[in-house]
Amino acid sequence: MDYLPLFTRIAQTHCLVVGGGTVALRKAGALTRAGARVTAVAPSIEAQLKTLCRDSGGAFHEREFAESDLENAMLVIAATDDVDINRVVSEAAKARNVLVNVVDQPELCTVILPSIVDRSPLIIAVSSGGRSPVLARLLRARLESTIPASYGRLTELVGKFRDRVRQRIPDFDLRRDFWEHILQGPVAELMFAGRRQAAEDMLESELRDAKPAPRGEVYLVGAGPGDPDLLTFKALRLMQKADVVLYDRLVADEIVDLCRKDAERVYVGKARSQHTMPQEDINQLLIRLAKEGKRVLRLKGGDPFIFGRGGEELAGLAQERIPFQVVPGITAAAGCASYSGIPLTHRDYAQSVRFVTGHLKDNTMDLPWQELVHTQQTVVFYMGLQGLAIICREMIAHGRHADTPMALIQQGTTPNHKVLVGTLATMPELVTREEVVAPTLIIVGEVVRLREQLAWYESPAQLAQDP
Ligand code: SAH
Repeated sequence: MDYLPLFTRIAQTHCLVVGGGTVALRKAGALTRAGARVTAVAPSIEAQLKTLCRDSGGAFHEREFAESDLENAMLVIAATDDVDINRVVSEAAKARNVLVNVVDQPELCTVILPSIVDRSPLIIAVSSGGRSPVLARLLRARLESTIPASYGRLTELVGKFRDRVRQRIPDFDLRRDFWEHILQGPVAELMFAGRRQAAEDMLESELRDAKPAPRGEVYLVGAGPGDPDLLTFKALRLMQKADVVLYDRLVADEIVDLCRKDAERVYVGKARSQHTMPQEDINQLLIRLAKEGKRVLRLKGGDPFIFGRGGEELAGLAQERIPFQVVPGITAAAGCASYSGIPLTHRDYAQSVRFVTGHLKDNTMDLPWQELVHTQQTVVFYMGLQGLAIICREMIAHGRHADTPMALIQQGTTPNHKVLVGTLATMPELVTREEVVAPTLIIVGEVVRLREQLAWYESPAQLAQDP
C-alpha cells in the first residue's frame, strides 16, 4: 500500500493553492467545500478564484510563489503548468512538513486527492495511487451508479442512534449484530424507499425491544425472462444480500450465479407436469426459513405478480407477520416482444394488450374468447404451447380473422431466442414440423407484422456477431 487513506478535517484551517487557472479553481473549490480557508498565489488569478478565496476567509496574491506563503498552511496544492514551480513548491512544503499535492505529478506529492462518491456523511474515496486518475474516475462512476443516494440518509440516521445503541447494547459483538441487522434489514429498506419516519420508528422500536437476534425477511424478486442484463439494480442488490435462495426452472443459471456466493441455493423448480415442490410446501419453506432469521430470496422468472403465484406466496408471510418486499421484473411478454421487434401496442394496429394464461386444465381452456378477438388488441398467451391448437381454433371460431399473424417465441431474450411466425390458421401445423423448446410465449395480433421492419436481430448473441 503506497498511501494510507485518511479523511482529514480541514474546516477553518489554512490551505494554499499555487496557480490561478481553472485547475486551481477546481482544487480550491474542493477545499472550500470541506470548509478550508483558501489562499491562492499566482502571477495572474481568475476572477472566480479570487472571489472563492475571499469568501472562504482566505486571500489571494498576484505574484510568484514564495516559501513564506506556506506559513501556517496545513496543505498546499500546486496547480500550475510549470513543472519547475511545482517542484519548488513540493520541496518547500516537504521541508516544512506541510502536506503537498501536485496536480498530475504524483512523484511530487505527499498526499493525493482521490475520486470521491459523495453520499455525505458517507464518502467513498477511490485512488489509483496517482497511476491512473481516469481508471479511478471510471470506477467511481460505477460505484456512483450502484450506491443509491439514500445511503447518505441512512448513514445520517445511524449516526443519530449511535450513542444510544452503544448504551443499550454494551457488548461489542451483539452491537455489531444489531447494526448488521438494521443496515441489511427492513429499516434500511424503508430508508431506501424514502420512508424516513417509518424507518426511524422501526429502529426506535427495535432498539426498545433489543433482542439483537436477526429477524428474517423475504424478498420476492422478479428475475426477468432470461437475459441477466434485464435484472433490476434492486434485484441484484437483494440477490447479493440474501442468505438463502429459492429459485425455479425459469430462472437461468447465469442469473442464479449472481447471488451471493455463499448463499444456500434451493431448487424448487416447476416443470409443467412435474412439480418438484408443491406450491404449499414452497409457501411453508419461505415461512420456516424466515422464522429461522434468514434473509430469504424467492427468485422468480419474469415478474412475480404476472402468472407467478407471487400473491399466494406472500399471503402466508403476511399472516405470519414476516416482513417481505416484492421487486418487479421484466415479464416474458415485454422481454420477448422487445427482443423480437414486436411492439405490443402500436398507434395504428393495437390500442390494447392482454396477457392471458393458456394453461390447460383437464385438457380445456376456459377463457373469455369473445374478449380476445378484437382486431385492434394484441393478445399474449403465457404457458400456451400445449394448448396452441385450441387457442387458434377458438380465436378463429369467435371471430378473429384466420390470417391474423402470430408469433411463437422460444427461450426469449436468451442466446437461444427463436421466433416462429405464422397465422392463427397455419401455426398449429407449423409447430408440428419444428422442434420447439420451452419456455414459449405466443403473441397474436397485427403488431407481429411490424417485426419485418423492426427485428434486425434476434438476440444479444446475434447482435454481438453483427458487424
Ligand atoms: N412470471 C413470469 C411468467 C411465469 S408463467 C413472467 O412474468 O414472465 C411461465 C410462462 O412464461 C412460460 O410458460 C412461458 O409462456 C412464459 N415465459 C417465461 N419466460 C419466457 C421466455 N424466456 N421465453 C418465452 N416465454 C417465457
